Amino acid sequence: MIPRMDSTTTAREHPAVQQYARHCNPAFVKLLGVLGYGRLLTRAKDVWVWDHAEREYLDLLACFGAVNIGHNHPRLVSRLQRYLAEDALQFVHVGPSPHAAALAARLAALAGPGLEVALLSSTGAEAVEAGMKVARAATGRAGFVSCVGGYHGTSLGTLSIMGSPRMRGPFEPLLKGCATVPFGDLGALEAALRPKTAAAFVVDPFNCEVSAGPPPAGYLAEAQALCRRYGSLLVLDEVQTGLGRTGTLFAYQAEGLVPDVLVLAKSLSGGFAPVGATLISAALQERAYGGMERFDLHNSTFGGNGLSCAAALETLDIIDQQGLVRASAERGAELLSKVRARLEGHPLVRDVRGRGLLVSIELGPTEQGWLNRLAPGLVRAVSKQVFGQWAAVKLLERGVIAQPATQHWDVLKLEPPLTLQSREVDQAVAALGDVLDEYRGVSALVSDVVERVGKQFMAGWAF
Ligand code: PMP
Repeated sequence: MIPRMDSTTTAREHPAVQQYARHCNPAFVKLLGVLGYGRLLTRAKDVWVWDHAEREYLDLLACFGAVNIGHNHPRLVSRLQRYLAEDALQFVHVGPSPHAAALAARLAALAGPGLEVALLSSTGAEAVEAGMKVARAATGRAGFVSCVGGYHGTSLGTLSIMGSPRMRGPFEPLLKGCATVPFGDLGALEAALRPKTAAAFVVDPFNCEVSAGPPPAGYLAEAQALCRRYGSLLVLDEVQTGLGRTGTLFAYQAEGLVPDVLVLAKSLSGGFAPVGATLISAALQERAYGGMERFDLHNSTFGGNGLSCAAALETLDIIDQQGLVRASAERGAELLSKVRARLEGHPLVRDVRGRGLLVSIELGPTEQGWLNRLAPGLVRAVSKQVFGQWAAVKLLERGVIAQPATQHWDVLKLEPPLTLQSREVDQAVAALGDVLDEYRGVSALVSDVVERVGKQFMAGWAF
């Protein structure tokens, strides 16, 4: 157990914070100190999280979409306890694995025709890379097209399609022949596919770490038609949008297509044992790995292990039996309309968008603010670089966990567990409205941020 501390003791003195700063990621702890983070989150249940001093937080982040069924779901906990008492053979590398077989068959039944084979792995990045490898092996082409700002993981393969130059730069040279296109721009996509060198177009249907909103109508189906025309595959990265997040079990089901490759991870395990799955058709599997000399070209020790598969199967049952896909659609519509109503006319809110329980607020100047008319560049810069992170800190201090999109700090995302109730929607909207009401102009924002950063500087960036 993480030791509890009384609320008068600062989080900075907590041994876990000091150990993390020393042995895990010193720069991250320093960065948290710039605005004064000041807590250690230790415990969670359903949509609630508690810190070292037992303060309570409503979770509107769900570990970036990794706990769609809520934290520590009691059914999942008891299934895993039973699994651990079963003396199951955790890995079966010398023959068929019953655990992998059951999970793959279940995923095939849920995804439907065209996605009947599952390559099982442990993380999102691994599952995306499995899709990239299939595409290369099946097409004999080397290149990939992905979206500007897009995020698919931080392994060397997925870094090659990373849409952030800052995150890609230190690791170059990466895979050759990779190009990025703006999300939603079919003309740019066609130009990138036309040379017929791309094995696949890899895309996250909601571009979750950039715009974090539904794709333009018809975009994904048109993108797939272009892929077919030029002999590339469509790899749909549903690591964040899958498993009910956007109001359908998989986001593609609302877009009138079935992707060539469907990538799942995060919430597939209910937030416990890591699981990734890359779904493809039997024909594609045959093209990439058919024949006895190719059967082992893609494998992993922990891919399809018993504990992960048991967690995934139970999670899929919970999503189904608790009606979480429908709940996501309904509660998401409620959250979207209440956020829109509360923030209507706010001079620093440009857009509120979403589908299911993935709702995003684009922060930035509208025409109404006087400072924006006077110094639009300054207002734009401050809202782009600072506002989303500052709003997240202010929400945290009011007992709400939320984060901006990692590649666009002016887009504040709300992606709670799908078990969120109406009263919690109201709590979330009230907190959000209160925080944003403090910043109806950029001058209040600048003065608060400068004051806080100054205080933190004087305190040696105290965590
Ligand atoms: N794809 C998407 C869309 C993601 O959001 C993420 C994680 N944020 C990944 C891939 C990578 O997943 P992991 O961190 O499990 O490797």
